[in-house]
Amino acid sequence: MLPEPHIQRVAERAQQLNARYDGATAAEIVAVSLQEFGAGLAAVSSFGADSAVLLHVIAQTEPTLPVLFLQTNKHFPATLRYRAQLAEELGLSDIRDIVPDHAALKLHDPLGALCLTDKDRCCDLRKTQPLAQAVAPFQAWLTGRKQFQAATRAGLPVFEAVGQHIRINPLTSWTEQDLEAYRQAHALPPHPLVAQNYRSIGCMPCTRALLDGEDQRAGRWAGNGKTECGIHLSGLEAHLKKTVIKGADA
Ligand code: SF4
Repeated sequence: MLPEPHIQRVAERAQQLNARYDGATAAEIVAVSLQEFGAGLAAVSSFGADSAVLLHVIAQTEPTLPVLFLQTNKHFPATLRYRAQLAEELGLSDIRDIVPDHAALKLHDPLGALCLTDKDRCCDLRKTQPLAQAVAPFQAWLTGRKQFQAATRAGLPVFEAVGQHIRINPLTSWTEQDLEAYRQAHALPPHPLVAQNYRSIGCMPCTRALLDGEDQRAGRWAGNGKTECGIHLSGLEAHLKKTVIKGADA
């Protein structure tokens, strides 16, 4: 395990970056992140309803940036088609499928039905653990999270320390109107399910269309008291601490 001073230094660096780049545009944040972290930078994308905006900003700056996609094997076919469409139209050349550990799935979810009985465990197996392995070699990664998406994200900063890593949210202060204006300005294709009132789009068994007046993420794990899959919460940090980091700055 890393000594606490190292963790503290990363937390201080995130604070300094927030102060230094307060008010910067999303494109500036992506450019600065590339300068700061170089080959130690990746992006994580769900190829969901709002993903095209951040992916377009990235493609304008560095289309070869690794983009990590959690292939849970539970996605809507429409999401996989959208992923291929965006990759081609934006020219993203390094999209990586992050898959669950085969042996762990065989042991804990042999029928693929864990999502019906224990969603937290299923997300841990299919998302949080694989993502921890995938991001461990990187110093930092970009996400498309926004403050308006849910009450749990209201205070989301641009730069966040996650143990010895930094998670970067260039769109955190964007509104729905900002996103729509950007999509229109750049003629970005919508996720096919948006037309059916899906707004936050994850795995098929755990996503439904929104009802009138519901917040953006109400269609995720509806009726289960679950609001996040764990990849953005402390579960990821806990897994990262257990992950053996080959060749990483330690
Ligand atoms: S969102 Fe649902 S199907 Fe996907 S990993 Fe989590 S519990 Fe499993």
